[in-house]
Amino acid sequence: MMPESPEAHGPSRMHATLPLLARSDFPALRRKALEIVQVNVGYRCNQSCLHCHVNAGPTRTETMSLETADQVLAYLAASGAHTLDITGGAPELNAVFRHLVGEASAQGVKVLDRCNLTILFEPGHEDLAEFLAGHRVEVIASLPCYTEELVDRQRGKGVYEKSVRGIQRLNELGYGRPGSGLELHLVYNPQGPSLPPSQEKLESDYKRILGEHFGIVFNRLFTLANMPIQRFGSTLVTKGQFNTYMDLLRGAHRTENLDTVMCRNLVSIDYLYDCDFNQMLGLPLARGGQKRTHVSDALGSDLSGNPIVVRDHCFGCTAGQGSSCGGALG
Ligand code: SF4
Ligand code: SF4
Repeated sequence: MMPESPEAHGPSRMHATLPLLARSDFPALRRKALEIVQVNVGYRCNQSCLHCHVNAGPTRTETMSLETADQVLAYLAASGAHTLDITGGAPELNAVFRHLVGEASAQGVKVLDRCNLTILFEPGHEDLAEFLAGHRVEVIASLPCYTEELVDRQRGKGVYEKSVRGIQRLNELGYGRPGSGLELHLVYNPQGPSLPPSQEKLESDYKRILGEHFGIVFNRLFTLANMPIQRFGSTLVTKGQFNTYMDLLRGAHRTENLDTVMCRNLVSIDYLYDCDFNQMLGLPLARGGQKRTHVSDALGSDLSGNPIVVRDHCFGCTAGQGSSCGGALG
């Protein structure tokens, strides 16, 4: 077993990674037309996973207010984006979650929920699966391996068993089943400082093994690279592996991935960021000479062509088959 890391239990002893990423030769990028508004509604989570790139956990208290949620909805309506991607923490723990889902659905916008599956069994959330199905929310759920040992090592004891039950619960409602229109995607990330394997091959392994053992079905598997920031980046620093991992990412950079990295068509909110990794690093979207832009000041603004704030962690998006919140890029 991997020894427990201090970073797995909260922010108190985290190493800062931004200073290690500050000087970058990552190619300059500009935004395209906005398609996805991603909103992080807070860092509280019922889990404290080792690789969490937002350092979420049960003791985090930051949450989005109803006022900001309404500003996000107004921004969304004016932006022309087709998708609202809600993330956290466990976003469902925030009181504004259901408000955002209901109002965005009423706007005709597709809603994604980054769901950790175990939240479906937390007290007070027993009706969450039905709520998601009722609003036809697309569920994107982490399951970083198909084996119990590795999932529990990365995400906490008992998480695998609850995650399997969570998927079964969603399957009962039609999620992942052909013709239901209820989409369920799983997310894989490597356990350590290595690149994800082929998404296509791993997806077929997941489908076969989870189907045989638990009768589980799902739509797609997204393979994500671990970003060298926050809790994972800090663990790399602690273990003396930060530079080796950066060399791996940089060495695997593929120029063809630059066209589809998620910052080209996504904006991450509450102040505006080119992506949630930049949000975690405190690198706001740079617009019109302003240091940062609040969502309430950006209503109807066209971000196309705006330069994207890049640093060395961006190689985590372009290495190998590429990595985004929707999985491999190619
Ligand atoms: S479930 Fe997700 S948000 Fe919560 S600690 Fe784990 S990785 Fe972070
Ligand atoms: S981390 Fe990835 S998504 Fe974010 S700005 Fe860099 S390349 Fe774009």
